[in-house]
Amino acid sequence: MHIPFNKPEYSWKGYLALIDAARSGTLAGNGKYTKMCHSWFETRFGFKKSLLTTSCTDALEMAALLTDIQPGDEVIVPSFTFMSTANAFLLRHAKVVFADASADIPNIDPSGIEALITPRTKALAVVHYSGIACDMDRIMQIAQKYHLKVIEDSAHAIDSYYKGKPLGSIGHFGAFSFHETKNIFSGEGGLLSVNDEQYVRRAEIIWEKGTNRAAFHRGEVDKYTWVDIGSSFLPSDAIAAFLYPQLQSFVQIQNRRKKIWWGYYNQLKSLEEKGYVKRPVIPDYATVNGNMFYLLVSDTAMRDALIDHLKKNGIQAVFHYFPLQSSPYFRDKHDGRPLPNTQNFSDCIIRLPFYNSLKTRQIRFITDKISGYFQGRKL
Ligand SMILES: *Cc1c(COP(=O)(O)O)cnc(C)c1O
Repeated sequence: MHIPFNKPEYSWKGYLALIDAARSGTLAGNGKYTKMCHSWFETRFGFKKSLLTTSCTDALEMAALLTDIQPGDEVIVPSFTFMSTANAFLLRHAKVVFADASADIPNIDPSGIEALITPRTKALAVVHYSGIACDMDRIMQIAQKYHLKVIEDSAHAIDSYYKGKPLGSIGHFGAFSFHETKNIFSGEGGLLSVNDEQYVRRAEIIWEKGTNRAAFHRGEVDKYTWVDIGSSFLPSDAIAAFLYPQLQSFVQIQNRRKKIWWGYYNQLKSLEEKGYVKRPVIPDYATVNGNMFYLLVSDTAMRDALIDHLKKNGIQAVFHYFPLQSSPYFRDKHDGRPLPNTQNFSDCIIRLPFYNSLKTRQIRFITDKISGYFQGRKL
């Protein structure tokens, strides 16, 4: 048996929509499927404006442009994340200040944020790791007090909630990913959500190379012209076409993925009780969205040995997020503060296979092999 880490689900509906988009005669951006995707996201999650992008990375870069980051501005970014969260601001010549994670959740620790704020701090990025919400009330309170813009890196967080509010709808901006490792996918793809009315216009302009093309197409201006800086953040309508059928099947996809998540969670309960592993902590303000399943072991040696043990049994498990402040690019730029919780998650996390067609019996097989690894082992 071989169980890969990820297996994106390609469906006939996706192929048919691609053909339909191509036959319509235009695959340029902001076409029929792009508009259908936009209205689906806005209706379902209550974003003031949603704009499909070619990646979450691009959505983050748009957020950095909209936040009007200037050289020398400071932005607080969690260190336990994908480099795109930091790159978006570095590309604007900001100074990135890395924040540590909480001790029990691999999300930014709200209690450590205020100490990192200076008069130059302009924005705060948060990542809802594995779709589990950051403590957004505390984060928004801090942001309000210091007049910071909040960017929710919601790459993992589609259809997850904080006290009932959709993630990506609480900060000024949200950035989602439709990379093929995420809940819904278009190969590469992403979405920017804009939650503050004052940015909606400019977001559309930056999305379309600094032009007012979107307003022109709505008949709101009589000339299509260059009005601001921008880039080509909008994807081909082919990307939107491939994604759209997944939006129509969204509830089924999500039910399946949440079932997989709870399958792992329930079956690993006894190993946690015996003290061998820790399962994800879900605060009562947060929800599970079936983005990924991770567990924590006690150290790097055990992590590597367990991944190896699973590999010998045909199971591909992975780990990730080398602490960004220690990476070759950033280590000379970091201020030297230790970030012990990030280090601990980076050392001890294991991500288990997760994809829509993962069978209940395969989850059982995987958790049995994990138990087998720990059998008879001393703590
Ligand atoms: C996947 C991911 C991204 C980047 O998504 P892309 O769509 O590949 O650009 C950004 N942040 C986090 C936390 C991610 O997991």
